[in-house]
Amino acid sequence: MPNLYFYAEQVVWQEVPGETSLAFTISGCPLGCKGCHSAQSWPATAGTPLTAELLLEKLQKYRGLISCVLFLGGEWQPKPLQQLLQLCKKQGLKTCLYTGLDSPPPGLLPLLDYLKTGRWQAELGPLGSPGSNQRFYDLNLLQEQSWKFRQTEQNSKNSAATLSTTSTATTSTTITTTATTKTTLEGLLPCND
Ligand code: SF4
Repeated sequence: MPNLYFYAEQVVWQEVPGETSLAFTISGCPLGCKGCHSAQSWPATAGTPLTAELLLEKLQKYRGLISCVLFLGGEWQPKPLQQLLQLCKKQGLKTCLYTGLDSPPPGLLPLLDYLKTGRWQAELGPLGSPGSNQRFYDLNLLQEQSWKFRQTEQNSKNSAATLSTTSTATTSTTITTTATTKTTLEGLLPCND
């Protein structure tokens, strides 16, 4: 089975609200969004092979410091990604996938705790913007939680400008997937990376 490659790794806090995540930028995204922030990672073999052994080594290094592993892409090779997700779960960690698709291959969903969907469309704004096509889901609660990013964006504006603003209305949409198996994304709206 061919390996996935990763172009960058970083510990992040905002990408998965409430979790400290080790994020891997996976190489080989085929979507080619205009304005992509990581176009250097488009070649499939850019960076380093993310073998199971290397991932395990990194998870051991961050043991006790992280609660989640975030894959920024990789759904274009679902089998190797499944293998890596399984490894993360075996280590007792939560998992998240950021995909530019509207829904990832179904085999990945049972291995994910969080999911962000939808490609980058600059004119619609990032996750958290009112018109964004991107969505963020907690797959255990079967809930859309894009509002958490809206709140973060609003909080940042508040602290930067120290102005009082009207509070942002929050909404959440119940995911109409099969509650127990998380095997489909029927009913989800488009999102982006
Ligand atoms: S989905 Fe994300 S990584 Fe892929 S091209 Fe679009 S912005 Fe870049």
